Amino acid sequence: MKEELLTSLRGILSEENILIDEPMSRHTTFRTGGPASLFIRPSSRDELIRSMTIIKESNSPFFILGNGSNLLVSDKGYDGVIVSVSGLKGLETLGENKIVAEAGCLNSQIAAVAREHSMTGFEFAAGIPGTIGGAMIMNAGAYGGEMKMITESVTLLSPEGDIVTYDNEAMEFGYRTSSIKNKGYVVLEATLSLEKGDNEQIIATMNELALKRKEKQPLEYPSAGSTFKRPEGYFAGKLIEDAGLRGYQVGGARVSDKHCGFVVNMGDATSTDVYRLICDVREKVLKESGVTLEPEVIMLGDF
Ligand code: FAD
Repeated sequence: MKEELLTSLRGILSEENILIDEPMSRHTTFRTGGPASLFIRPSSRDELIRSMTIIKESNSPFFILGNGSNLLVSDKGYDGVIVSVSGLKGLETLGENKIVAEAGCLNSQIAAVAREHSMTGFEFAAGIPGTIGGAMIMNAGAYGGEMKMITESVTLLSPEGDIVTYDNEAMEFGYRTSSIKNKGYVVLEATLSLEKGDNEQIIATMNELALKRKEKQPLEYPSAGSTFKRPEGYFAGKLIEDAGLRGYQVGGARVSDKHCGFVVNMGDATSTDVYRLICDVREKVLKESGVTLEPEVIMLGDF
């Protein structure tokens, strides 16, 4: 089966975009994770759509990868196809206030275009280290903003292989979720609706938020950002701190001393270390405060 799939993919993708037993530690911001049996990187929308058709026909499990900034992959790896969208890089402005970005564009790249064209509304997302595809799935947000506020429409490849466009309402954005999460859709492109703004003000806001991140977040260590969702009425970091877990460590994984909501890789962490630490934190916080923490980080493979 794998050989047949490989042969078919070789008919679509160039050789350097097909990797076998590719360590996922190279593709996650945690810098952990074992090998993916097959890792592909289509370089255009057409290549992506044709690859997806073949993968589905082969019945192989698959996973769509953005920038791997919200992802923990098992040390045992992933026995399926990782489809990276990082080759879909189209990014353009439309009129005075719109940006059309293909799924693989990084939020930082979109922020640069918004800044260049004096469009305001994207400042909150400039420092979220993922792709716009991942941001749409997760309804990424920060500093009072979220994708819900600026998304006009999203072009998707449906599980049935059709290209469909969802408007903001159909996306049903919620807290770190959307109607297309875990449903087999692939984000191809997003159209963002911003506003004409003052260039200097946009730059000042982006700089201010970048500084806030640097001061408050352990950006000097690999991580996947906030490990847990914000439980209603609480802050995950505060609950973890109150449970006495600041600096708690399992192997190379540690509850950040700077921000207890972050689990960081001190250098030699495995995904198992991170996973065990997450389990310990959940158990201790539940015991101390009665609150169940739900991971925000997506886990892939067997733990
Ligand atoms: P990935 O981690 O690659 O994937 C996440 C999910 O999206 C997976 O289920 C994946 O299958 C799916 N996916 C990705 N692309 C597509 C696509 N094109 N089509 C279909 N499915 C897709 N998040 C916030 O919301 N706010 C923050 O302020 C924030 N700060 C962070 C700070 C740091 C230092 C780090 C490391 C992370 C932070 N995050 C934050 C988490 C993360 O950056 C976001 O969740 C981001 O939106 C994930 O995007 P990604 O491209 O990396 O997705």
